[in-house]
This record gives sequence, structure tokens and C-alpha cells, in this order.
Amino acid sequence: MRPLTREEPGARQGPSRYDLSGDELAALLEGEPSYRLEQVRRALAAGLSPEEITVLPKCLRQRLAETPAMRPAFVVATESPTERGATVKWLLKATSDRARVEVVLMRYPARVTACVSSQAGCAMACSFCATGQMGFCRQLSSGEILEQVVRAARAARDKGWGRLSNVVFMGMGEPMANYGSVVSAVHRAHDDLSLAARAFTISTVGIVPGIRRLAAEPLQVNLAVSLHAANDDLRSSIVPINRRYPLFRLMAACLEYAERTRRRIFFEWALIAGTNDRGEDAAELARLLAPLGGLAHVNLIPLNPTPGFLARGSDRETVRAFRDRLASLGLNATIRDTRGRSVGGACGQLAGGAQLAGGAQLAGAAQLAASPKGA
Ligand code: SAH
Repeated sequence: MRPLTREEPGARQGPSRYDLSGDELAALLEGEPSYRLEQVRRALAAGLSPEEITVLPKCLRQRLAETPAMRPAFVVATESPTERGATVKWLLKATSDRARVEVVLMRYPARVTACVSSQAGCAMACSFCATGQMGFCRQLSSGEILEQVVRAARAARDKGWGRLSNVVFMGMGEPMANYGSVVSAVHRAHDDLSLAARAFTISTVGIVPGIRRLAAEPLQVNLAVSLHAANDDLRSSIVPINRRYPLFRLMAACLEYAERTRRRIFFEWALIAGTNDRGEDAAELARLLAPLGGLAHVNLIPLNPTPGFLARGSDRETVRAFRDRLASLGLNATIRDTRGRSVGGACGQLAGGAQLAGGAQLAGAAQLAASPKGA
């Protein structure tokens, strides 16, 4: 078992269940027959809490349940009603502090996708994003990220949806700003849950050093870049980090990533009525991505309204026309379904809603999470 990184886990009470390394788990089981370690590891990977590990003698179950390091990182604060029974969203509350994160699980005919959070809150301050409007709370440890994946996988099984097939970092937070914990969680999911790195998509606002680092990593994860604008003026106005990493630097990093990995990059484009949804915007986007050739894939969704951003998402016709324009310019693009709208998407609406009077249920990013693997 790989050691987990603990970058500011905020775990003032010490590590939680999925932060423990194999050695630490073994130490907790000292004096027990050696096969107990594997039993506990398997049970934790399946999402069981110590009380539920019935292969263990009752006294050992009880002892583990009372061990502080075996506490779960989160408890469920709210579970949203499902959308036609195919989407479910949880607001999770940390057991160590006041941090809140969101997880969304979506069922499709051929796959089950979990959308998880990499941070509680987000410091990127994208103007249209509900999490960006909330601000940053804290980093999540890799154990806290892994726990979200384990919970989603268990829920998928319990609901009869089958095996979790994809995990996208499109919930709260900027994964590249918590790089070590995110990558470590992907490794652990591979080792302990048999989830291939290919099943994961890291979605970034465009942190150039993170993209370069990922390009050099021997890890087959997918990369998605939240572009939303193909000129620096517009992009800087809605995605402030663009001032630090302007488009020429971002595109150079993407090109390097594509050349090194030969993997496709997904570009996310939330269509904002009258702002980035016109024919000339499509042409500008096609020009920007041209150097990537067939390795660029654009995911389109209409912007979802959020309390702090007074703009509308593009209507259906405009979204289709935009896709067709991109196609005529030789760019692969897919319209993502607006799944998640009624459960508040995945971008801070529930956590934000808890703070907003009336708990606005406004949609966010779950639909981008829908199928990052492309068409
Ligand atoms: N910080 C990362 C991942 C989290 S957000 C990133 O920026 O990629 C996941 C995706 O949802 C991003 O593409 C983000 O720009 C998008 N998003 C956020 N708020 C949205 C909204 N109101 N409508 C549509 N997409 C939104």
C-alpha cells in the first residue's frame, strides 16, 4: 500500500480511515492473526465501516470502531433526491472541522460516473462558479478524496447500478492546487479499489505547472481544461487565474502534454449567452486549438446560473449551432446533457446553498462530468 500524502488535511483530530498507510493499519491490528490486515483492507475498500466487517470477531470490530484513526472523514449532511433515479448528490460534512464537500453519482446506460471534490471550497474565484463564489476553505487529504470515491462506489453497488466506472475531479476545488493528494488518491484507488487511472479525469482551471507535471507523470489519467474563452480579455474576466497563466502559456503546456502523452485533452466550454456562444467565438476557439489537431475535444454545456453571476446559459439552438460550427471547422465537440440541473449540479450549490438564504438550488458542473471520456 502506498503511503498517503497529508497536505494540510485539516485533520486536527489526526488522520481518518482512508489516510492510514498499510503499516499504520497493520499497527492497529497488532497481536491479531496476520490475515486480519487483508480482511480489513478489503472491507474498507468496499466501503464498510468497522462495525460492518462481520468477518472480524465482535470485540475487534468494536475496538476498531472506537479507534480515533478509524473514524470516517465525512458524514452525510444531505442526500439530494435523485433525478429520474439516475443521479444522486451528497453534501458531506467533515468529522474533523466545518468543511463541506460535494459528491455526485450519475448513472448512464454504459457507465457510472462519480464527480468528486479535491478541496473544500476553491481559491480560483471563477466568476460563474458557485464554489468560486464561496471561496476557499481547506485542502483535502488523499484519504478524504479516496473516501468520496469509496462512498460513491458503494452507493453505486447498493443501488444496483453496478461498478463505478469513472471518477471526475469536477466537484469542488482545483485539483492541480492539491496535486499531491489528488495523484496519491488516484494511485490508492488503483491499488485498493482496482480502478484504473484511465477511469479518472482531472479537470483544471489551467494551472500550467500542474499540466506540465501531469505530462511527466507515468499515470494514464485524463486531462480536462476549463477554457470557456479563447481570448485573454474575456478569459481573464471570468477565470482570474488566466492573468497568471495566459492562453499562450496554457496552450504551450497543453501541446507539451499532448506531445508527451499522445492522449486527448478535453476542453470545457460553458456557453454564456451572447458572450462566448457566437460564430466568431467558435472560430476563435478552433484557431486556438488547431495546433492540437485530433487530440483536442471540446465539451459544451450551457452555463448554469449561479447567484453571483448575472448571465444566462445559451439556449438549445445556440448550443447546437455552436457545436456544428466547431465541427465545420474540424474540431471534435460534444454537447453534454444538462443532467444534474435539478440536483444542483456539482459546483458548490449544496454547500453554498447551505449558506445562502433559501438555499438556492442552482446547477453547476455535473453535466460536464457526465462523460469526460468524450463521444
Ligand atoms: N476547478 C476545476 C474543477 C472543478 S469545476 C476546473 O476549473 O476545471 C468543473 C467544471 O465545471 C469546470 O469546467 C468549471 O468551469 C465548470 N463550471 C463551474 N461552474 C459552472 C456553471 N455555473 N455552469 C457551467 N459550468 C460550470
